[in-house]
Amino acid sequence: MLSEFDLIKRFFIRDMPADPGIALGIGDDCALLASVPGVQTAISTDMLVEGRHFFAGADARELGHKALAVNLSDLAAMGATPLAFTLALALPDADPVWLAAFSEGMFALADCHACRLIGGDTTRGPLNICITVFGAVQAGAALRRDAASAGDDLWVSGTLGDARLALALRRDEFAPGAATWTAAQAEAAAVRLHRPTPRVALGIALRGVARAAIDVSDGLAGDLQHVLAASACGATIDVDMLPAGPALATQPVDTRRAWTLAGGDDYELCFTAPASARDAVVAAGLGAGTPLTRIGTIDAAPGLRFRDGAGDPIILSTASFDHFRTA
Ligand code: ADP
Ligand code: MG
Repeated sequence: MLSEFDLIKRFFIRDMPADPGIALGIGDDCALLASVPGVQTAISTDMLVEGRHFFAGADARELGHKALAVNLSDLAAMGATPLAFTLALALPDADPVWLAAFSEGMFALADCHACRLIGGDTTRGPLNICITVFGAVQAGAALRRDAASAGDDLWVSGTLGDARLALALRRDEFAPGAATWTAAQAEAAAVRLHRPTPRVALGIALRGVARAAIDVSDGLAGDLQHVLAASACGATIDVDMLPAGPALATQPVDTRRAWTLAGGDDYELCFTAPASARDAVVAAGLGAGTPLTRIGTIDAAPGLRFRDGAGDPIILSTASFDHFRTA
């Protein structure tokens, strides 16, 4: 068994050029981040627990990626630029093969976003991965949940529902013969579940353009309700506009609606922006290379309502979503 310090040195300390934002990295009792006047530090923590957030025996490289990705997604939802992260890890044993794959998956994503590992904690215990990210955002520029305003357009990035489809396949939720997707579609859906892409560039591009934003981790309808509650307003969603993932697009309309609205694990951004900012929103999406879809409007009246393609109201009970909720 590797000693705790050998493990940290071997898998988590890397030779990196100096970063002016990080005055001191791994090795002391605390890391030190440089502060910049007029810049706020965005901080978020997400924990992944075996059996709850991932299956026992899950691929270590994918876990390393996902543990950081879900945290970067929170920075993206605030419009913050990633700066650094800490890693608290409980491991049943110090398996070097597992650790090498985990750290490779994690650092590959970290390097894409110039986000440095600056510290953490390592202990023996049931597998549990907790990452805290630090990001930078100009004071006043963060995309907060409480900033939506009646009359705003409602937007969502990318596509929804494929991660939920991948979960259904993994859990054998479909009767034999019910499969109407190709192996390639199923594989693409699995990538959405296990290797989500945090919309970091989009969040940054939406600063000063969008008003409120949230990342969709528990399902669009539920996550949007957090924005509506914080902003004391309501919304109407055009359900036929919801961008279904490629594997889900061929599914029956009920499945498609339920899983785009309440699937979970999408890690897309849902945001509001004034109608006057439509061109700027489109430009932000193009600049970030992320497709965007306008899916509804923010209303003064509280509550979440649904409209079909003809503009007629439709009733979708939250009970019907619950059936599809991630356990
Ligand atoms: P302390 O006992 O003061 O908490 P530790 O012995 O736990 O210190 O950690 C030594 C150093 O290694 C610290 O700088 C800590 O941040 C870092 N560290 C520990 N575990 C990890 C990890 N999993 N990833 C990155 N850095 C870690
Ligand atoms: Mg410690």
